[in-house]
Amino acid sequence: MKILGLIGGMSPESTTIYYRLINELVKKRLGSLHSAKLLLWSFDFNEIAELQSAGNWDHATNLMIDAGLRLKKAGADALVICTNTMHKMVDAIEQETDLPLIHIADATAVVIKPRQVKEVGLLATRFTMEQDFYKNCLLKNGIKTITPNDMERTIIHDIIYNELCHGIVNEKSKTQYIEIINELIGQGAEGIILGCTEIGMLIKQEDVSVPVFDTTLLHAQAAVDFALS
Ligand code: GLU
Repeated sequence: MKILGLIGGMSPESTTIYYRLINELVKKRLGSLHSAKLLLWSFDFNEIAELQSAGNWDHATNLMIDAGLRLKKAGADALVICTNTMHKMVDAIEQETDLPLIHIADATAVVIKPRQVKEVGLLATRFTMEQDFYKNCLLKNGIKTITPNDMERTIIHDIIYNELCHGIVNEKSKTQYIEIINELIGQGAEGIILGCTEIGMLIKQEDVSVPVFDTTLLHAQAAVDFALS
């Protein structure tokens, strides 16, 4: 089994889900008392969130590279960044660490493609919905994204940082998310990407009439595929 190097803590709420899922999936595949061999670098998320909101991506990139190098030194065979947003700087991380990186958008696209879904609604942080780094990665795989309007993006973003990243799951927020998802479906979305690793805490497949692609689950599956390959 290969050793996974998780860059997490963004937020700890979703890293906990990764840890559980990766271990469950390894146990399912290997049986008995098997569990994953992994290393975790967990950030103080407040430091990261402040850099994000200040737009200080250069400093954030340096911290991500530093985390990757620590994991490499500790023996990681590949990196798993446990957040969609911080895939913004994957090129620099791959280049500086020279480690394989299991990309969350690629792991998601691989599952969407055979479903013949051409256009998907994307729910994520403002950074992931508004900047090109993530949407281009999906487009490269033939998947077009539809994003919510400005007011809806603010609602989604604020619920991520003010509630989900604190472990708060609120019924009213769930209703708001579902309304926005239904808007996107009305605009032609044939599937919905939960493009933030905390959204799976709030939205489940049964809440939505089209296929839901939970990036946390799909990324954990890809990481386990790599570890056991
Ligand atoms: N975990 C979230 C994501 O998947 C948001 C937190 C962050 O900005 O890293 O994008």
